[in-house]
Amino acid sequence: AIKQPELIWFNGNLVHWHDAKVHVLSHAIHYGSSVFEGIRCYETNDGLAIFRLRDHVKRLFDSAKIYRMELPFTLESLEQACRDVITENRLTASYIRPVAFRGYNSIGVMPFDNPVEVAVAAFEWGAYLGEDSLAQGVDVGVSSWNRSAPNTIPTGAKAGGNYLSSQLVVEEARRHGYAEGIALDTQGYISEGSGENIFLLRNGKLYTPPATAAILPGLTRDSIITLAEAQGISVVETNIAREALYLADEIFMTGTAAEIVPVRSVDGQIIGAGCRGPVTEQLQSLFFGLFDGTTPDEWGWLERIYLK
Ligand code: PMP
Repeated sequence: AIKQPELIWFNGNLVHWHDAKVHVLSHAIHYGSSVFEGIRCYETNDGLAIFRLRDHVKRLFDSAKIYRMELPFTLESLEQACRDVITENRLTASYIRPVAFRGYNSIGVMPFDNPVEVAVAAFEWGAYLGEDSLAQGVDVGVSSWNRSAPNTIPTGAKAGGNYLSSQLVVEEARRHGYAEGIALDTQGYISEGSGENIFLLRNGKLYTPPATAAILPGLTRDSIITLAEAQGISVVETNIAREALYLADEIFMTGTAAEIVPVRSVDGQIIGAGCRGPVTEQLQSLFFGLFDGTTPDEWGWLERIYLK
């Protein structure tokens, strides 16, 4: 359960947590018409900072554009809402969840008859795949469910409806005793986890499905590609066959909630030495080093926030 802060930003105002309510006939509840983001705020050596705030809010607008959903707020005002839910709730390290959705007016499928509502919540959220996941790694399985085919439900939008696919993937994975499932695309290539992108290392090179594949092009994925390349580690964005997972020297998954999670087995096959590999550990250190100051933020990824 969420440890509830006091306030949620809802359609332009800060309201009490329990007052941030919607009608049961809201369009989004029936037809999945929401777009959302997941953003982390870190405690750094230099105060609180939101990681890649601008890029996340831009992606929210991109997701909305795909669905021709006009957000009744500017990018700047939603960035400010993200900062406000941290400062007004006196939160420290936390997870920020902006969501825009079609509200209540008519019950037809046609989306435009309903008002667009926007909320931003923030709360504490620890390691998504478990406290030990970052150091110990997790066991995963290839899902029997495929990711949506191109030109069906676009995986490039972070839309509520996409997470029906993710729910099938993660529920099946847990039922089989895995922490997470890896979905293949409709051609049989690797796509992503239910809430993470995936990388594998083989003979010193990193491989990950291309941004044009059936994936959400994650910002953590992008950050890891940037950090790896800055260290001279080459990253190949290409289609990856299922069996390449079993032959990898290392595998890890990336996401805002999950962060950088080593994978120690896939479908019961041990990956590498069956524990976090050295390159995965190096990339974790570089990533988390952004927050303790050991990795210089050359890219302007840290959006500092100042407590009032
Ligand atoms: N794929 C899916 C399906 C996701 O839900 C997420 C989490 N937002 C990711 C990938 C990783 O994206 P990011 O690194 O931007 O959080």
